[in-house]
Amino acid sequence: MPLTIPFSNSYAKLPERLFSRLGPEPVHAPELLAFNHALARDLGISGDDDHAVLARVFSGNAIPDGAEPLAQLYAGHQFGNWNPQLGDGRAILLGEVAGFDLQLKGSGRTPYSRNGDGRAWVGPVLREFVVSEAMHALGIPTTRALAAVATGELVQRETALPGAVLTRVASSHIRVGTFQILAARGDSEGLKALFEHAVERHYPDVSDPLGFLNAVIQRQATLITHWMNVGFIHGVMNTDNCAISGETIDYGPCAFMDAYHPMTVFSSIDRTGRYAFASQANVIVWNLAQLASSLLPLMPDQEAAVEAFTHAVHAMPAMLNTKWNATSARKIGIAEPTDQDHQLTARLLQMMSAQGADFTNTFAALTTGDATDQFVDREAYADWALDWQSRLETEAAPQEVMQITNPVLIPRNHRVEQMIQSAVQGDMAPFERLMKALSQPFENKSEFDDLRRPPSEQERVRATFCG
Ligand code: AMP
Ligand code: MG
Ligand code: MG
Repeated sequence: MPLTIPFSNSYAKLPERLFSRLGPEPVHAPELLAFNHALARDLGISGDDDHAVLARVFSGNAIPDGAEPLAQLYAGHQFGNWNPQLGDGRAILLGEVAGFDLQLKGSGRTPYSRNGDGRAWVGPVLREFVVSEAMHALGIPTTRALAAVATGELVQRETALPGAVLTRVASSHIRVGTFQILAARGDSEGLKALFEHAVERHYPDVSDPLGFLNAVIQRQATLITHWMNVGFIHGVMNTDNCAISGETIDYGPCAFMDAYHPMTVFSSIDRTGRYAFASQANVIVWNLAQLASSLLPLMPDQEAAVEAFTHAVHAMPAMLNTKWNATSARKIGIAEPTDQDHQLTARLLQMMSAQGADFTNTFAALTTGDATDQFVDREAYADWALDWQSRLETEAAPQEVMQITNPVLIPRNHRVEQMIQSAVQGDMAPFERLMKALSQPFENKSEFDDLRRPPSEQERVRATFCG
């Protein structure tokens, strides 16, 4: 039976000015690197799973029946600077399956490529594969990875590197920047069509733009809190990388923190630390203020709407704060925190940052009762732990709370880099092993002890790149 992908496409029915219809550029010698069979099954993709067939389809060399390939148009604020036109410069949306977008990334040039080559290399493709699937296993809203295919072509970066195409699955690729471009162009009709489409796909209970704004604010506040819970740093929170669905999207220079510090930055292009770990909660508010502005033209009485929209955006910092207080309390076993409990978590985090304690391992150690080993100044820890223990006396099941909040395994940067090095040499075993380990991030299995260790000085990855 041939490979069957049950497409049912809705984006392609929107006004044509929202995208460009074109197919992927064929590649020289597609070879399957990875395929997510479980996800394929969930999407109802069936039939031929011969590697050569999968490689042809998920490199873009063969267009499956029912696909209506296109590149999406959007704009965005990149590091705070307005860019009036971006768009899929190296991605092609094949269509939608079971309500999810199937998108090829690294599939060649499009009308939106600007100076880019339209391609991706194996490193970022496998990083996105591993990290997005790890995020999913951690219970964090995210795009997924269906396939990675080597192209048999070289991609020129600082050196020549092996090319690859990633197949990304998302509940949509509608971004804040998709709304922005229509608002900026004064295209009210396009904006209305996009709004209705986004409501139908993501927020069917919502009836007006204010309700929509509030719903996106809720989902994004939840998302950022999830990121903070696991020490995730997105790295490029531009408005074009901020999904209306509330899923994590665009795994470029992202990274998980090892040693805790609120101002941690990895991305080589984030020179001012705009998207540092703790800044993510501020930036998301700024991004959603841009969404609010873009929704205004939908309102009959814009002057009255400004006030309501401003109010919605201004409510977000307090919302984020409440969510983070609840989550950080759960990280130390407190199910329903009081204001005082916030002091306890704040003291711990301060001590962790002063002493460079490993974020994941400290909370994992607290989960099993004692994090002394994570601190250089053991007395300071002992002082804190005394207060902590006495606070936990009134908690019903602190360990259970911590167990489901604190992962023991995250995709540590140095392991991801080692995996990429091996893959470039043709050895996919470290990729397979990472995928297996990260599929159960809350399980403490001794066979994966090495993956829990923070990097040595030599292993430490200091900067990450978009690729
Ligand atoms: P990003 O920083 O990954 O969100 O990308 C910003 C913009 O640059 C988007 O419009 C991308 O499609 C585009 N882009 C990134 N890399 C490439 C590339 N290699 N070729 C063409 N366009 C690219
Ligand atoms: Mg992007
Ligand atoms: Mg990107």
